[in-house]
Amino acid sequence: YDAQYDLYDLETLQEMLEKARPFAKQGKVADYIPELAKASPETLGVTVMPIGQAPLSAGDCGVPFTMQSISKVFTLLLALIDHGEEKLFEHVGMEPTGDHFDSIVRLELAEPGKPFNPMINAGAIAVTSLIRGSTPQEKTDRILAFVRKLAADESIAIDEAVYRSEAVTADRNRSLAYFLKHNGVIGGDVEEHLEVYFRQCSIRVNCVQIARMGMILANGGIDPDSGEILIPERYVRIAKAFMLTCGMYNASGEFAIKVGIPAKSGVAGGILAVVPGRMGIGTISPALNEKGNSVAGCRILQELAARWRLSIY
Ligand code: GLU
Repeated sequence: YDAQYDLYDLETLQEMLEKARPFAKQGKVADYIPELAKASPETLGVTVMPIGQAPLSAGDCGVPFTMQSISKVFTLLLALIDHGEEKLFEHVGMEPTGDHFDSIVRLELAEPGKPFNPMINAGAIAVTSLIRGSTPQEKTDRILAFVRKLAADESIAIDEAVYRSEAVTADRNRSLAYFLKHNGVIGGDVEEHLEVYFRQCSIRVNCVQIARMGMILANGGIDPDSGEILIPERYVRIAKAFMLTCGMYNASGEFAIKVGIPAKSGVAGGILAVVPGRMGIGTISPALNEKGNSVAGCRILQELAARWRLSIY
């Protein structure tokens, strides 16, 4: 690509945010977790963090939201760090499904009942069951410490209200988890694994923090400020490959064509995006389309990708 696209300016970012704003009206805030329904559909924010440069933010970049499925990228990385890829892929596959994120249907088809990938709920629960720690609390603390380190922000915490709201309404996730246990994909106490999974989904972040985590992935796992290797590069590659092929639910193909960068969305309306070698991006807009992706968030990324030639293809 042309080096002129390394010049990122605030004016363009604000312009793209305003272009995307009307699209939020096409979406609907998630309400299957009752606490999430309280989010304002008007919230709209974006932060771009180029490697080694100051971040640029527009709109509601400081408004907190829960990571939800964005957390799946980080538990995947932590499980890889804990066990290596050979062991991890004994429990979860590498292929997109084309099904809804909480689908159960293929768990009966795949042999031996292994979830297709770590970005769908079944796969993410299987991955979370592998996180090292002797209690759910210890595992949650390790996930939180990892997220705080990547975001360079010790203040990141769990939203207890969202956690409780999810834990008491999670019949579907419970079904997935017990099915996995029956299939021998996960061992141990299912309720304890679910507790850790609901807590990781309830980690409260904002666009700036998400953009920084994305920037670390864009930089191959190395903190550009300290030079410290936070994640082995091989595992960052695996995570980015999953984000690209499965990160935007069953709209990942469309997103690859329209935007063309690894990204992961969550049902609270956040998106984590990574432009390898260049930048991390965080967006928030809680109104979702029928696939579960933030409508305005996708639109901002599409506009930025066109303007700054972000597509990796
Ligand atoms: N906590 C949500 C669930 O398990 C995450 C879903 C998502 O963000 O896709 O239903």
